[in-house]
Amino acid sequence: MNLLIIGAPGAGKGTMSELILKNYHLVHVSTGDMLREAVRNSTPVGLKAQEYMNRGELVPEEIIHDIIADRFSHSDIDAGFLFDGYPRTRNQAEDLDSILKDMGKKIDCVINLNIDDEELIKRITGRRLCPACGEIYNVYSNPPKEEGKCDKCGAELIQRKDDNLDSLKVRLSEYHKNTQPVIEYYEAMDLVRHVEASGGIEEVYGRINSILEGLC
Ligand SMILES: [Zn+2]
Repeated sequence: MNLLIIGAPGAGKGTMSELILKNYHLVHVSTGDMLREAVRNSTPVGLKAQEYMNRGELVPEEIIHDIIADRFSHSDIDAGFLFDGYPRTRNQAEDLDSILKDMGKKIDCVINLNIDDEELIKRITGRRLCPACGEIYNVYSNPPKEEGKCDKCGAELIQRKDDNLDSLKVRLSEYHKNTQPVIEYYEAMDLVRHVEASGGIEEVYGRINSILEGLC
């Protein structure tokens, strides 16, 4: 079973990926992780990527392509994979298809986590972190007992810089602009399963699981 999972920032992609990986024997493939690993191990591609990162530039598509093609040449991937955080654009989707075709593989299902922007805004702008113990709160859905203070250790809660409304709106509009064509690309192949991503973690995972059970 080869899966892709797609979802806006804050839609719960990370949490759902973890749950899928816990319940199904799939290899987790994340371009971000692979990139960091290649840089850490100073592989030839990693060194090239590092030059761009040092200059604060985006790592070019060819380098991402090489990293993915390299990852798919390892045989553990034959057990099936969950691809997370990629493709982000239609070009990348086409590129991924050609890499997979060369390996005699294909995507079986694309899970698209659907959630209203309004709810995402509440999830993200309401998020508060405890810098001391790492506990996460949400002023709308999971507030601390005392405003601005961690229930567990009493430290002053903080808001991550990226979690403000302006930067979220930019991220969301970028996301929709790039991802809509990706979804349409896979819809034309009848691979997309839309999952309502509002509600509790178990509820949302239950929806995903019933789709995956139908695939196995
Ligand atoms: Zn704390």
